[in-house]
Amino acid sequence: MSFKDLKLNRPILRAIAEAGYDNPTLVQEKTIPLILEKKDVVVSAQTGTGKTAAFALPILQSLFDRQDASKKGRKIKALIISPTRELALQIEENFKTYSAYTSLKTAVVFGGISIEPQKEILKKGIDILIATPGRLLDLHKQDFLNLDYVETLVLDEADLMLDMGFIDDVKKIERLCTKEKQVLLFSATIPYKVEQLANSILNNPERIEVAQNSSTSKNVNQLLYLVPKKDKIELCLHLLRKTIKGNIIIFRRTKFGVEKLEKTLLNNGFKADSIHGDKSQTARQEALDKFKKGDVNILIATDVAARGIDINDLDAVVNFDLPNIPETYVHRIGRTARAGNSGIAYSLCSADEKAYLQSIQQLIQLQLDVIEDHPYPLDPKAKPIVHKSKKTGSKHKKGRKSGASKKKKKRWY
Ligand code: AMP
Repeated sequence: MSFKDLKLNRPILRAIAEAGYDNPTLVQEKTIPLILEKKDVVVSAQTGTGKTAAFALPILQSLFDRQDASKKGRKIKALIISPTRELALQIEENFKTYSAYTSLKTAVVFGGISIEPQKEILKKGIDILIATPGRLLDLHKQDFLNLDYVETLVLDEADLMLDMGFIDDVKKIERLCTKEKQVLLFSATIPYKVEQLANSILNNPERIEVAQNSSTSKNVNQLLYLVPKKDKIELCLHLLRKTIKGNIIIFRRTKFGVEKLEKTLLNNGFKADSIHGDKSQTARQEALDKFKKGDVNILIATDVAARGIDINDLDAVVNFDLPNIPETYVHRIGRTARAGNSGIAYSLCSADEKAYLQSIQQLIQLQLDVIEDHPYPLDPKAKPIVHKSKKTGSKHKKGRKSGASKKKKKRWY
């Protein structure tokens, strides 16, 4: 299928061709026609599948058809709610790219920066607004927003939005828009609470699922290092010096952990920056820009701050802490080995993370390749439990140090 088959107008086709898109991705192929038919949709798709264009292109298409009318006294006709500021900015960038040859106007509002310039932008009139929930409600309370003309409401990364506690805000925002609007819900996973939200605010939605949340790319070499908790930093430094090369994201569970690791890496001469929820919006954006430009090659992040951010061409992902939600592991390592490239995921696991490791391996139906030959092995007295050995699907390439993982022995991992 080509973009032309999706019946998009010429200015939009021109913009996406310039962006280098040859053909629609699967989620675009499945979703765009339904959105153009004005159906409500629930789409289960992760970042990296092209989901932003899947809603942005049909929204632009339907607004483009009426753009002459919209020039006089622009009203917000499409509202996109995003859980994080970074994602909101990224969505805005995409809308601007795709609408470059139309006169439609897009703006983004989020917290953590001054509200005044945002009021000025809204006063001038826009067609499409991308917003984080809190700032949107603030602006509405202060009477700088009229949502009476919203025809399409998009809830992006709905599962994260609910995890971050935005459920009441989302419901409030939904009620501020007209009843007749079309609602599009995008979510990496569809847990029960997202399903409940969809049932309460969407009208007979079509459901689309593009990627199994439990599948990891065959091109990612998934390596496991068993290490005492106290030695994790030393092992991480050792790996960064000797083994891991290129552009790297290191994930930590907590903001405190991110800060601590960043300091250590900087003190050891590495070029690193970080993103987490306690950093100002400007500092987060600066860190991302530095990483994207190549001024630093290591980005340390919490899952929430990194979720939804489009960072391609990663050589490696390091799970400094194993995530307590197994699906998060899949999200994290999905950031490497995109578009058919290969990548490596390094997971550092201490004895107290045993249960997390087991849930991850159960979800992905794979045993990670254990690298035993490293200077900080786990205390041999750490309690092993008998675990049935499954065949792994991954092969060692870069970073392989021994064939120890192939040995059959009692192990708890
Ligand atoms: P998303 O899942 O929306 O974050 O998109 C992930 C990446 O895929 C972004 O860099 C998009 O610019 C890119 N992308 C989206 N649609 C296409 C397409 N049809 N062809 C090539 N790249 C695309």
